[in-house]
Amino acid sequence: MIQDALGLRGRLILDETVPARAPWRGVVRKGQTLRIVDLEGNQAVDFLMYAADDDAERYSAQDTIAAQGNIFLREGSILLSNEGRAMATITDTSVAYHDTIGGACSCESNTLRYGHHTKSQHACVENFLQANAVDGRGKRDMVSNINWFMNVPVEADGALGIVDGISAPGLHVDIRAEMDLVAVVSNCPQINNPCNGFNPTPVRMVIAE
Ligand SMILES: [Zn+2]
Repeated sequence: MIQDALGLRGRLILDETVPARAPWRGVVRKGQTLRIVDLEGNQAVDFLMYAADDDAERYSAQDTIAAQGNIFLREGSILLSNEGRAMATITDTSVAYHDTIGGACSCESNTLRYGHHTKSQHACVENFLQANAVDGRGKRDMVSNINWFMNVPVEADGALGIVDGISAPGLHVDIRAEMDLVAVVSNCPQINNPCNGFNPTPVRMVIAE
């Protein structure tokens, strides 16, 4: 099937909607493209990836930033592993840049930042653990992640902000796998800062080859 409506060329492998606040896991084979669509806008999509053959090799924010000499992920960014190999390339994005330094929210960080009453709120770390458990990965396999569609500007003095997003309904990012990958997502449940516009919403995952 040719997925003309999405502008993606090639046979459609998968087309799923991830509900608000939910985890997701998928296998993206070398050469296939994963498209993530921010269906309703300003939805942070926390993202990890592991080499399918040996998940000791996984995404490395540090190696990616150092190699490209820039903290933002844009069209053309090559996403590197902890072994310095290309895991994936951003082949297209309708959002100017994406974050890879802001990290993932957790119950623990929520209580520190926003107060003890947030302890019971669902968070990205729990989603990652749930999705990773399918392959037997645990907390020690959690590394610095990508935040698709999340706006984390860095000020001249080095200060970070988590501010209103620059995404909008229907915008997307295309990630072409350069090796067989397991992609793990937390559709961020955060409601205490503007990363999801205070309103978590569904996203769409499409894989085409
Ligand atoms: Zn989160």
